Amino acid sequence: MDTEHAIPALRARIVDWRARGQRIALVPTMGNLHAGHLSLVEAAQARAERVVVSIFVNPMQFNDKQDFASYPRTLEDDRRKLEDIPVDLLFLPEQAALYPRGLESSTRVTVPGLSDILCGAFRPGHFAGVTTVVCMLLNIVQPDLAVFGEKDFQQLLLIRRMAHDLHLPVEIVGMPTRREEDGLAMSSRNHYLTPEERRRAPALFQMLSRARETILQHSGACDFRDLEADAMERLRDRGLRPEYFSVRRAADLALAGPEDKDLVVLAAAWLGSARLIDNVRVQG
Ligand code: AMP
Repeated sequence: MDTEHAIPALRARIVDWRARGQRIALVPTMGNLHAGHLSLVEAAQARAERVVVSIFVNPMQFNDKQDFASYPRTLEDDRRKLEDIPVDLLFLPEQAALYPRGLESSTRVTVPGLSDILCGAFRPGHFAGVTTVVCMLLNIVQPDLAVFGEKDFQQLLLIRRMAHDLHLPVEIVGMPTRREEDGLAMSSRNHYLTPEERRRAPALFQMLSRARETILQHSGACDFRDLEADAMERLRDRGLRPEYFSVRRAADLALAGPEDKDLVVLAAAWLGSARLIDNVRVQG
């Protein structure tokens, strides 16, 4: 597996692949790779001849400086995992190359509305950081397709919306959430959990699954707001500090009502120093 740090060198590789008529896929990550990330790489390999994985801990999407400073950086482990698969190219851009004018003065790409709800309401500026860096990576690599996880459902929807609105010639592929055996969604942030917190952590997915069952049992004819309040209470009882637990329309994340059939239940909760997010789809 080759590694490139510089944009011109990466572009030269892409030009070469293009000249041979090869399809190119991009999998953007922040590193600290786990089986969830690797499932995205496998999906990319199934759809393209060449796969580029980027690792960049993007400062623009961290609204908390301490969170950015302590984010797990495990490059050598990540490299070994990617070599095992194997991936064609690892792209490790430098912060100064992506943000030559500094974070504050750089151009931003923002998706209005969708960026300000759910996670966006609790992490101001976070999604503008995500859409900005993903737009840059898509422009640098110019892949035929890019693969993202449904675990970050709101992020996936934002990226689809951005690609559509900006007429980016790329297919955005979403892949299902990889989970630990007890249901906890795999995440780089799970390392922040103490053993005791780790035992409690599956409660988030359990409450989401419970909400899903309730909605299906009532064929959607239940009071979603009651269900949300009940789930928040149960999460608190289990020692989590929920930010939101919300039944939304899968297409646009608007608040769902009984007439909506394609739903997603999304939740975010703190457990110790880890912020966990997860979601389940409900198609009635
Ligand atoms: P991150 O490194 O956390 O920014 O994630 C990089 C990509 O991996 C994003 O598209 C995430 O949605 C995706 N991802 C993270 N966790 C999982 C998981 N448990 N299953 C599938 N994809 C995931």
